[in-house]
Amino acid sequence: MCGIVGAVAERNIASILLEGLKRLEYRGYDSAGLTVIRDGELHRERQVGKVQALVDAVAVNPEFFDGHIGIAHTRWATHGEPAQRNAHPHVSGKIAVVHNGIVENYAELKEELIAKGYVFTSQTDTEVVAHLINDIYKTTPDLLEAVRAVIPLLHGAFALGILHIDCPEELITVRLGSPLVIGVGIGENFIASDQLALLPVTNRFMYLEEGDIAKLTRSSIQVYADGVEVKRQIHEIDAAQHNADKGEFKHYMLKENEQPDAVARTVEMAVDSDEPSKLRDDFLQRNEAQLKGIKHVQVIACGTSYHSGLVAKYWFESLIRVPCSVEVASEFRYRNPVVIDNTLVICISQSGETADTLSALRDIQKHTPAGLVSLALCNVPTSSLVRETDIFLPTLAGPEIGVASTKAFTTQLAALMLLVLKVGVVQERMAGEKLTTLLGQLQELRGQLHASLNLDAPIKAMSEHFEYKKLPVLRSWFAVSNSARRRFKAERNLVYSRRRLRSRRAETRSIGIGR
Ligand code: GLU
Repeated sequence: MCGIVGAVAERNIASILLEGLKRLEYRGYDSAGLTVIRDGELHRERQVGKVQALVDAVAVNPEFFDGHIGIAHTRWATHGEPAQRNAHPHVSGKIAVVHNGIVENYAELKEELIAKGYVFTSQTDTEVVAHLINDIYKTTPDLLEAVRAVIPLLHGAFALGILHIDCPEELITVRLGSPLVIGVGIGENFIASDQLALLPVTNRFMYLEEGDIAKLTRSSIQVYADGVEVKRQIHEIDAAQHNADKGEFKHYMLKENEQPDAVARTVEMAVDSDEPSKLRDDFLQRNEAQLKGIKHVQVIACGTSYHSGLVAKYWFESLIRVPCSVEVASEFRYRNPVVIDNTLVICISQSGETADTLSALRDIQKHTPAGLVSLALCNVPTSSLVRETDIFLPTLAGPEIGVASTKAFTTQLAALMLLVLKVGVVQERMAGEKLTTLLGQLQELRGQLHASLNLDAPIKAMSEHFEYKKLPVLRSWFAVSNSARRRFKAERNLVYSRRRLRSRRAETRSIGIGR
């Protein structure tokens, strides 16, 4: 995953683009770049490594980047090594493009473009997009129309941001398989891969649908689907709720330790502290009829979410005797599977934008088995997955910036257990003492998670004892003679004491004493 940010405004936008890229750093990347139109020219800077390297490079001549329209990108290389020439934006003539995703048929397109005389300066698949738009613009001098003509030529999944020097008021964007949101400002508009990037400038967002192409100016946003202008609703979000600051935590990995509150919030969605021995009446109330009819559960997910699905399988089958299958979405979508009637398809994804999970869901929906019910277990209410499923079961983990997925996983487990209980109750497979006990255990999780996290300090102290220890390979250990063991121990101790000495010296040097 990597990121796109774009802006068209009255004010200078370079700092907005750079701040946006910093906020997308959590997605992972190997290089970063931006381009701004200023005085009828594209001013571009690209750097390998951290966004900070780009910020520093821009700071050398900041006035070059004073402009009112620009696009920026963090790249996670798929085609071509991480290198400055491969970093985005890519330029063809007067056109600049940033791209997330993959153009699968880039090789044949590249050949055709080379035959027409286009010169490639990068190894990326993205550069074909810039040249193609340039080529079509020559006969169709309207940026939106040129982009629209190029999209059907591209196979793959992508999000794009596009500029043209001759249209310095227009930012074109495309969403097809990779996430992209529009940030709606006053006299200014923005694009980004994640709304988090734009929270310093707006809290109003428009979520594009798959295949949407949009034209943004300072004062207008036009969205087109299949060539026809369409309305996409503007959602106002509570910025405090989407707070992605580190807060009291030293870094985002530690912020994953918000688990006790995150899990408790998720449990409280379904259990009232005044009536702790029953599920709240309003928990999935509107979906009771759907859940009553299901006979089989199919979980589709990737990575961490797949693993929470594996746990849920045990619960569905052992607690309420509903058969459950779990499969990695990338396998599921490519093997033409059979989904039987009356299946509850649970798609689990923290972001709700996991491409394989979305594709697998869409494939199932195309075949519409009878009694199909689809459910999104997801942390982002505005995501594609939530929009495309019948039921939304949220995890209330808060924004995920640290990629360890710790709180995402534990909140998914809590929500899945609540779902198992709900299905159990509506299908009369779960009641009485069993239900009360499980609900009680769910409510104890906050305290238990706190108690585990409080072990941090003793674990840290203990780890110091083990820092230089290495376990011998047991089988060979027993096979060797006593004298060989003694020799091994003596050598090992020598190595460890040298290492200790080296590390003490380094420590002394770093605090500047003992020279
Ligand atoms: N496929 C493009 C490249 O390798 C985009 C990768 C990305 O999504 O950052 O440059």
